[in-house]
This record gives sequence, structure tokens and C-alpha cells, in this order.
Amino acid sequence: MKKKFIKFMEQMDTLEERIFGFILIVGTLVVIVSAFVTMMENLSLFATLLSFIIAGLFLFILYLNFVMKKKKLSRLLIAYVLNCIFMPVTFYSCGGIDSGMPLYMIAGIFMIIVILDGKERLICGIISVVVEVCAIGISYNSMDGHKAKTDLKTPLLPKLTLEARITDMVFSFLLVAVFMGFTTYLILNAYQKERIEKKKIYDQMMEMSRRDALTGLFNRRELYNFYENMKESDSKSNAKINTFYIAMMDIDFFKSVNDTYGHVMGDKVLIKLAKLLQDNCNDEDNEIVVRYGGEEFVMVFGADSDKAAFERIDNLRETVEKIKCSEHHDLSITISCGLSNKNENDDFEEALDRADELLYMAKNGGRNMVCNG
Ligand code: GH3
Ligand code: MG
Ligand code: MG
Repeated sequence: MKKKFIKFMEQMDTLEERIFGFILIVGTLVVIVSAFVTMMENLSLFATLLSFIIAGLFLFILYLNFVMKKKKLSRLLIAYVLNCIFMPVTFYSCGGIDSGMPLYMIAGIFMIIVILDGKERLICGIISVVVEVCAIGISYNSMDGHKAKTDLKTPLLPKLTLEARITDMVFSFLLVAVFMGFTTYLILNAYQKERIEKKKIYDQMMEMSRRDALTGLFNRRELYNFYENMKESDSKSNAKINTFYIAMMDIDFFKSVNDTYGHVMGDKVLIKLAKLLQDNCNDEDNEIVVRYGGEEFVMVFGADSDKAAFERIDNLRETVEKIKCSEHHDLSITISCGLSNKNENDDFEEALDRADELLYMAKNGGRNMVCNG
């Protein structure tokens, strides 16, 4: 039953359609119940008849919307016929301001706001309010005990007993509260779901824009963001940026890996190397490793001394030599590294350039080595 209902609701493409579908279903149930309540209250034959005609109208619009798929017509029809015809007539014939009808009128205006939009909402809203205010005025003038300006009396306006007034008010209040409360809940719930969904997509896109698609490592842009964030947090805490190290690494003769084993295999090697670098990078210690270019990677990290920094990168270089590929046992790679340090007086870009120059030296020095300075 629940599944069928969900499937039925999912047939409606947009959120607005779902809300309208829901209002139509709940509204139909409410008017059917209120028709029976009116009948039981025994107000007048006219009032009972009118309540059942309204219930019939709702059933007809239900058919128009879901079976004949006349969605716009259904909305306009329900908004105008209900608020401009049935509501004032029912108000007049079901006890006027002594009854629970003003509550239904509020629910009717609420419905216009929810199911129509733009100009249609404004026009229908204004017309309905004017018509209903007139109905209230006429009904007030017709009541006994009030100093009516005109002597407009109608046999349609029944005099309600105190009991009938209380019963009517309680039932009307319950029905309108259920209708308005449930509709508002549905709208807020849908809005909240949509907002969470949007936030999820936004976060995913933000994450994608920060990362390299092949290896999953952060990209070059993120390296600069990382440095900016580091500067910002240091300036907030009034601390100077401590010395840190920049290792620029490049795979040796990677072109020949691609030429010998193919590009797909080349990609797998890049992924393996990226994973190794990531495993050796401690995010919690404010370290970062990024894919800087094709087969170039940059790692920023802190160390107690130049020697400790050198040893760390040299160990990494040795570990890279041990990377194995199950598909090709003879495939192995080496990396060359340039290691620079950035102290508090250096510019980040300058330190990066120095690492690049040192990498160049490592390449010229025979590759598979770390040059620092
Ligand atoms: P060197 O030791 O001087 O660095 O030699 P090298 O062959 O590594 O350098 P070169 O710059 O000549 O070639 C880099 C190669 O990296 C060429 C390019 O096809 C390859 N490459 C860059 N990005 C990717 C990638 O995403 N996937 C694969 N498979 N290869 C890539
Ligand atoms: Mg290379
Ligand atoms: Mg290169």
C-alpha cells in the first residue's frame, strides 16, 4: 500500500505537481468528511446539498488532474470555483460568522498561495479575498441582534444553536488544522530534502574541483589554497609560518613506460604512485600531496631539520623503486626529486621554483635521486 502510494506520487514529475496532488487528495478527503459533518449537523437541506456538491467537485478535479492530465485547468478550477463560488455561498448558508466557515476560507486562501503562482496567484488571491469579504459583510448585515445597515434577510442563513456552533467550530478547526498543517509539513519537508540534495551535489562538485580525476589526489589549485589557508590560520593566531619543505617529484622516463606498456598501464602506475604518496602524507599534521602535472607530484610537509626532511623523501624514493605491477613483473619506476625549504621570509612561489630547479638538477645528475638546497 505504502509502495503503491510512493509510486503514485513519483509519477508526478515536479515538486509543485506532488504538492498539488497531495492537496487534492487530502482536500477531497476533508470535503467529504465535512459534507457528512454538515449533514449530521442538520443545518439545512441547502447547506448539506452544497457540501456534497463541493465534495463532487473535488472528485471531478481529482479525475481531471490524474486521469485526464489537465493539470493547469485543475488548479485554476479548484482555486476559483472553491474560493469565489462555493466558499462564499457555503459561508452564507452554513451559519456565516457563527460557523467554522471562516477557517475554511483561510484554508482556501492558503491553498491559492500554494497551488498557483505568479500573476495567477495574485489575481485569484485578490478576487477571492474581495468576494469573501463581501460574503462576510452581507452575512453580518443579515444577522439578528446586529445593527444591520440594510435589512437583507435570507431564509438560507440558518440560526445556529450554541451546541451546533461549538460542534461546527471544533470539526472545522480539526479539518483545517490537519489540512494546513499537513500541507505545510509536506512543503517544508520537500524543501528540506531538496536543500540537502543540493548541498550534497554542491559538496561533491566542490570536492571534484579540488581533486585530480585519475589519481584522486588534490590538484595543483588545491596546493595554493592549502598555502593560503595556512597563511590565514597563522595570521589569526598571530604566528609566523614555520619552516616547511616542498618536494617536487617527477617519474623518470615515464614516456617510455607509456610507449612500452601502453597508456592504460601508464595510468595504473600513476594511480599506484599516487596511493603510495598519499599513504606517506599525514593530513592531520597539515601535510599535503598534490598531482602537480602529468607525472609530477608535489608534497608539502614539516620536518625538524633539513636532514630529517631529506631522509624522509629519500626513503620515499627508495620505496617507489619497489612498486610492482602484477600484469608486468619487469615494470618498475623511479622518481627524481627536488627538495626546497620555505622559511618565514620566503615566498611560496619562490620556494616552489627552487624545488623545480633542484628537480632539474636531479634529472641532470642521473635521475632516481633527491637534490636539496
Ligand atoms: P624524464 O625522466 O625527463 O621526466 O622523462 P619523461 O619521459 O618522464 O618526461 P616527459 O616529459 O618527456 O614525458 C612525460 C610523459 O608523461 C609524457 C606523457 O604522455 C606522460 N603522461 C602525462 N600525463 C599522463 C597521464 O595522465 N597518463 C599517462 N599514461 N601518461 C601521462
Ligand atoms: Mg618524467
Ligand atoms: Mg614531467
